[in-house]
Parts: sequence; structure tokens; C-alpha cells
Amino acid sequence: MEHVVRTPREPFLVAGGALRVHQVPVWKDNLVWVIEGVDTGRAAVVDGPQAGPVLDYLAAHGLVLDTVLNTHTHGDHIGINAELVARDLLDGVRVVGPALAADAVPGITRAVDEGDVVDLFGVAAQVWRTEGHMDGHVSYVVPGAVFCGDTLFTGGCGYLFDGPPAKMFASLSRLAALPGDTAVCCAHEYTEDNLRFAWTVEPGNAALADRIRRVWAVRSAGGCAVPSTIDEERATNPFLRASVSEVARAVAAASSDPADSALAVFTATRRLKDTGKHKELPASKLPIGEPD
Ligand code: ZN
Ligand code: FE
Repeated sequence: MEHVVRTPREPFLVAGGALRVHQVPVWKDNLVWVIEGVDTGRAAVVDGPQAGPVLDYLAAHGLVLDTVLNTHTHGDHIGINAELVARDLLDGVRVVGPALAADAVPGITRAVDEGDVVDLFGVAAQVWRTEGHMDGHVSYVVPGAVFCGDTLFTGGCGYLFDGPPAKMFASLSRLAALPGDTAVCCAHEYTEDNLRFAWTVEPGNAALADRIRRVWAVRSAGGCAVPSTIDEERATNPFLRASVSEVARAVAAASSDPADSALAVFTATRRLKDTGKHKELPASKLPIGEPD
């Protein structure tokens, strides 16, 4: 299957240089994160639909699989576990997954939930329960990066499969309060679709126009727009901007849902995106042409 990303991001350092984060595109738009303990030769892998491409990547970089971190139990996130179990490759590997869905995490050795801490090569990863997409969903927070699965996406957020909207809204609001330079390491490359929708909601947002130009340039060359930073998300992601009056006005005008509180605006925004109408927005309406 051809991936939407041809050229992944270059690996980058977080946690004061103790961890190197690599991105491995798998399937069509999944992004598997490999967290290398610098100078340890070992790595933790966050989610994934498949094991093969990740094992190949680890081998090519001289890394040994130390840990699997799962955010939630959709197939494109725990497929890697199932394959590692089937191939008998989990001997001595730590498998960390959401306690509320522990039975559905193949090979799990440690069930975690809100407030737990996972040691990653000497760095403390904080476990946050970030529900809304799926019950029990967790995110892993280290200094400089958050591995947030299908909760916060670059320019958007995950579907509310389990919901309710209030849970996703709380999860996103909490993630939005992370330090602005935190890298948003989500599990899919959906940035263009998300920003196309964002533009239908906030066409007067100069930071959004600028982001769209940068993302379109990167993506048209086959590059990846993930990770972004929390700063960029706060400035341009409509799902983090329910308290902005322009967002509230645009969403109220486009939908029949009430928009009388930040939660109501968020709920209406998510419903509006689910209609898929933004997909019809022609490229000529996006701020990507030459300025005239
Ligand atoms: Zn999912
Ligand atoms: Fe997913």
C-alpha cells in the first residue's frame, strides 16, 4: 500500500537529548513513532498496524525493541502487538497499554492509566487518560513531545467513536495546555484534510493561512506535516479554538446546533466536520496561490 508520506521527518531529540524520536510511515497514513533511548541501542515503539516495517526500521538503525506503548486498541494501533505475539517476538519486551482496555492489548505486561509513570530510558513518561475517540485511550507525555494516538491530530481531532463530546473536549483542552514547543506526535497524517476544514471555519486567521501554505508545500513534495507543535495547534486547530468568537460565529452560521458554550461550539464543530462538506472546497479557495 502506498503511504501518503514518501519522505518521513528526520529524527529529532526531546527530553534534553535523552530520547531521539523517529517516524515510520506504515499502511496508508499511519505514523508509528520509534522512541530511541540515546546511547542505549534500545527503542520504544508507539502503536502501529503492522510489525514488519517497524522491525525492518529498527534493524536498519541498529536498535533493539525494548517497549511497545499502546494508546488505544483500534486495529491500526495494536496490529503490531498481535503480529509480534504471533511471531513469538515479545520475549523480554515490555508492552504498556491502557488499563481500561487491557484485555484487548495483545502481550500486555503493564496496564496504565491516568497518573502512572512509565520509565523510558531514564525519562519519566507521564500517562494521561485522553478519552473521547475511544474509552480508556491514553497519551504518553515526555518533555518536548506528546504521543497522543487518535486524540489530538495536526489541525484536527479524532472521531468521537465512544465520545461523548465533553470527554474529547476535556482531553484536547488539557493537551492544549502543554508547553507550546511540545511536538504533537499523533498517529495519522491527516493534516491537509484537517486544515481544509479549519479554513472553512476561520478564513480570517492569518496563522492558519500561513500554516496551510507551509503544509501544502511540504505535502506536495511527499513530506510529512507531523509533528506540529502545541503552539501551532492553539493558533490554528479549530477544535482547540472553541472559545474564539470567530469560530463560534462560523460554526453557528453553518449548523443548526446550539453554540452557546465552548463545549457546544466544539460539539457543533466536530459534527460539521463529520458532514465532510469541506472536502468540496476547491483549491482555488485555499490561501495557497501567489499573493495578488
Ligand atoms: Zn483509533
Ligand atoms: Fe487510528
